[in-house]
Amino acid sequence: MVTALYIHIPFCAAKCSYCSFNSYAGLEGLQERYVEALCVEMVKSASGRRIAPLQTIFLGGGTPTLLSASLLRKVLSSCLALFPLAPDAEISIEANPGTVDGEKLDFLRAAGVNRLSLGVQSFADQELGRIGRIHSAAEAVRAVHMARAAGFQNLSLDLMYGLPDQDAGSWRTSLETAFSLALNHLSLYQLTVEEGTPLERMVREKRVQLPDDDDVAVMDALSTELSAGAGLLQYEISNYAQPGYQCRHNITYWENRDYLAIGSGAVSCLDGCRRRTVAGPEQYCDLIEAGQSVVIEEETLQADASFRETVIMGLRLNRGVSLNQLQRRYGILPEDYYGKILEQLIADGLLVQKGGYLRLTERGRVFANRVMAELV
Ligand code: SF4
Repeated sequence: MVTALYIHIPFCAAKCSYCSFNSYAGLEGLQERYVEALCVEMVKSASGRRIAPLQTIFLGGGTPTLLSASLLRKVLSSCLALFPLAPDAEISIEANPGTVDGEKLDFLRAAGVNRLSLGVQSFADQELGRIGRIHSAAEAVRAVHMARAAGFQNLSLDLMYGLPDQDAGSWRTSLETAFSLALNHLSLYQLTVEEGTPLERMVREKRVQLPDDDDVAVMDALSTELSAGAGLLQYEISNYAQPGYQCRHNITYWENRDYLAIGSGAVSCLDGCRRRTVAGPEQYCDLIEAGQSVVIEEETLQADASFRETVIMGLRLNRGVSLNQLQRRYGILPEDYYGKILEQLIADGLLVQKGGYLRLTERGRVFANRVMAELV
């Protein structure tokens, strides 16, 4: 039964140099049409499906806060009118500090949004400039203060390490600035240079230099060490939270549970079937307006593929994957499925099976990609 809803807003003020997400700059003229289309897709998705009261709603992108308050109102009110909501539901929105002001934040809080995730990436202006962010460090700090003033008690911030010309000292400064803002949740991502992005070209043409693996390992270690010191405990490979502030929506993904996703390029996972909608926002609007389906890909997940995904996704969580739940859901345990591969990973000190969970050890988290590759 679906308890999580994702809504994709694909618009951005400008495209960051590293970004390979389904997001577009320069489509301001399409926003109204897109919101209309979203509402139509929501109506279709809500009808004829058993939906339990939603535990989480997540407006992501793109930059949802690029939409005007009246368009955001339309999205939120349609969603709340169509889907039942649990009384303590987590309603998150992603925001770019360059697209919020006190008024918009007041509106979002009043409209029921109770978790704000600010994409800050760095508190060094030079680093922000190199990756094409539209905001300064000072604007990011201001956005945090405005969010608190608007009444957001659940505030998260994204930072990135491994950025062009970044060193451990600058990463430490970004982390310490974030801690000084008393956030409830931090997402700390290592930059990956995606093919076809402007950043890839800049790296290839040696116009920027990336930190080497040793530097990145130091930054990685700093992330865990300093976050723990600030009372933010790692609960997933890239995520840290005060107790009780883990992102419930993302835990749905990591536990490989069902979720409904609306919007262009959105991927839903429903009753053993994964489906993807058309990526281009304009094409998405055209199809909806013509009364046609926006689904372009549908895949039925075989039980063993779903089992492997549940193991791999669950291992991203520090607590690991519940053996009990695997047994109940698939009737099989990792030791039976993986046999000697699992034995070896445990013998190598990369995985441990304890207290009803299979999880990565501390060393296993460092070599997480290798472990996942063996279990995929
Ligand atoms: S704001 Fe986010 S989604 Fe938009 S271009 Fe930058 S990284 Fe991509």
